[in-house]
Amino acid sequence: MPRMQHTRFAAGGALAMAASILAAGLAPVSARQRQAPIGANETITVLKPARVFDGDAMHEGWAVRVRGEKIDAVGADAGVSAAGARVIDLPGATLMPGLVEGHSHILLHSYNEASWTDQVSREGLALRVARATNHLRATLEAGFTTVRDLGTEGAGYADVELKQAVSQGIVPGPRILASTRAIVATGSYQPKFIAEWNVPQGAEEADGVDSLTRVVRDQIGRGADWIKMYADYRWGPMAGSRPTFSIDELKLAVETAKSAGVPVAVHANTAEGMRRAALAGVETIEHGGEGTPEVFKLMVEQHVALCPTITAGAGPWPPANPESAANQRKRASFKAALDAGVTIINGSDVGTFPHGENARELEAMVAYGMAPTAALKSATSAAARVLHMETQIGSVKPGLFADLAAFDGDPTKEIGALRRVKFVMKNGTIYRQ
Ligand SMILES: [Zn+2]
Repeated sequence: MPRMQHTRFAAGGALAMAASILAAGLAPVSARQRQAPIGANETITVLKPARVFDGDAMHEGWAVRVRGEKIDAVGADAGVSAAGARVIDLPGATLMPGLVEGHSHILLHSYNEASWTDQVSREGLALRVARATNHLRATLEAGFTTVRDLGTEGAGYADVELKQAVSQGIVPGPRILASTRAIVATGSYQPKFIAEWNVPQGAEEADGVDSLTRVVRDQIGRGADWIKMYADYRWGPMAGSRPTFSIDELKLAVETAKSAGVPVAVHANTAEGMRRAALAGVETIEHGGEGTPEVFKLMVEQHVALCPTITAGAGPWPPANPESAANQRKRASFKAALDAGVTIINGSDVGTFPHGENARELEAMVAYGMAPTAALKSATSAAARVLHMETQIGSVKPGLFADLAAFDGDPTKEIGALRRVKFVMKNGTIYRQ
């Protein structure tokens, strides 16, 4: 099927509406709204929050009109006509573009519940997919209307099929950018039991000219929107992470994916893994925990964005006071990235902690020194640009998809307001009100 953006993300109209009403725990829409024309293209809605963050700046007293699945008009309340529209008042709330989660694992559940190894080696595919449908709903209800899912961790191509289930209105969920199995260098990943056993790994192994080219192409052929690779991991006799792929291998993968218009995201914590990835032409680096000022400067020069995943592995958020040594290192590397001016995309590695708690990453970025408005951009307009979706999502402006979320209070004054979700709309369909 051709990769046409509009068909890829089109919701199933009435089906999506029905799914949203049926979804457990969602407030039903009012009788008057149910009687409104079901054809999404016919419905006009005017949203009246206290203020609108349009992806760039805050505007007090603005209103937004939605027609069908698109944003139709935005501006001062008095100038936005409500003729023929259902009007939804959101007093005290900030209306924003639906938030972007730049790094999710929709097929993992919290490591408090089961270790990664147990999930990958003891939980079957159907079980994992059943859980994932709950994760998708929790994510959407939290106001996150787009996720980039960076690896199914042993669950094959289930992300591609979950994406289909959402777009066909079978289950409620955010827009999904899938990456399928992710790619690791042979021997570098997990799980490992005894040396004689060949056990399925949490990602697909590939090396060198022959298999890397084939595996990148194969994952794209099976529906990957992004290719995810691991440039380093905890392997070998040394403590901590060590690089895996050579720079030539990374370059080859990037070049192969680029032919299909598919960008590459790379897991890298070591400065050397980050350096190889940046020089190879990847578009985002995930984690970056040991990033140095030099490496962040290189990322700026190479136009590589950082997805910091501060809260992954941080334990309960907010962390204990005083912070652990690991958190102190993360704080220092994040500050170095901010100081260097690296483009930052919000991404939490959710799945390692409960889905629906995605906003804690934004709280963490602000706690670690990012201005609240910049944090909001990293989950809206800036994220959309990094994901090449800025003509579809990430801003509140006419012509874009009506992916909108409202939160009680003003998140530029108190980032924790993002936990108080009042309203969620995706593609013009209300999922929470
Ligand atoms: Zn991850």
